[in-house]
Amino acid sequence: MSLITVGTMAFDAIETPFGKTDKIVGGSGVYVAYAASNFVKPVQQISIIGYDFPEEELAEMRERGVWLDGVEVVKDKKSFFWSGRYHEDMNSRDTLATDLNVLADFDPSIPDSYQGAEFLMLGNLAPKVQLNVIQELNERPKLIAMDTMNFWMESAMADLKIVLKYVDMLIINDAEAKQLTGMYSLVKAAKAILQMGPKYLIIKKGEHGALLFHGNEVFFAPALPLEDVFDPTGAGDTFAGGFMGHIAKTGDISFENMKRGIIVGSAMASFCVEKFGPSRLKEVTKEEIDARIQQFKDLVNFEIELT
Ligand code: AMP
Repeated sequence: MSLITVGTMAFDAIETPFGKTDKIVGGSGVYVAYAASNFVKPVQQISIIGYDFPEEELAEMRERGVWLDGVEVVKDKKSFFWSGRYHEDMNSRDTLATDLNVLADFDPSIPDSYQGAEFLMLGNLAPKVQLNVIQELNERPKLIAMDTMNFWMESAMADLKIVLKYVDMLIINDAEAKQLTGMYSLVKAAKAILQMGPKYLIIKKGEHGALLFHGNEVFFAPALPLEDVFDPTGAGDTFAGGFMGHIAKTGDISFENMKRGIIVGSAMASFCVEKFGPSRLKEVTKEEIDARIQQFKDLVNFEIELT
């Protein structure tokens, strides 16, 4: 089974209470692709980069089964740049800079070799770009999931509401669910979002786990309690990449299998936060992933007698 992933390939500058980085490689598409490639190959990436994006990073992605035919290279512009500063609790952050650069005129076209993919993960990007990708596909994938963020709600809410009508699943965090609906109760917000188009909704709650909503069903998975969270950047994208990687690997879009996907996504996200940028994702082994998924099973598994 193949998976198309769409997102930014970028530079980030990050400040956390543990330290500060200069420009390092980041971007939603990078995190999604690194996470998903542990489960499914090929990962067919769609993105845009400038002259400054490192060739070694592209080589590393190719080696992991990430196809880059859909990544446009603009020779005279810089790659997308984002900078953020995390608060003491690491759950919230301020955006310090968003330089769109190449992203300002991104109009993706889908390579013929990508057509027919069964799964599509629309990473955080302008809603118009997300919609273009859907409309350029000759065949509708079995499952289309998308991510978004406050930046697009503030600058392109009308377009965002249009894309939502075309996707099967939305994956966002709790603050974004509240912002999208204006509702403080996550259950009410979930109901409202399920009326906007997607049949499935995942709400991520950072260190407090994630919720999956579908019809009247709800599933909750905790996050692994970690001693140190070093850098949460990309954790949401890594979650989405792990989730869709699992779904594409199994080809099974049942609610039961989505529950397993959430555990896989949560396990991958727990690695991502252990080091700055995507570096931990690049060194993680299959054995470590399996052991962490087992840790999740042990964390939530219990027997109870109801009398
Ligand atoms: P996350 O921590 O999962 O929300 O994702 C962080 C990644 O999203 C960073 O690597 C950024 O490069 C990327 N990013 C930040 N703002 C935007 C934006 N407006 N559009 C697309 N990608 C973004």
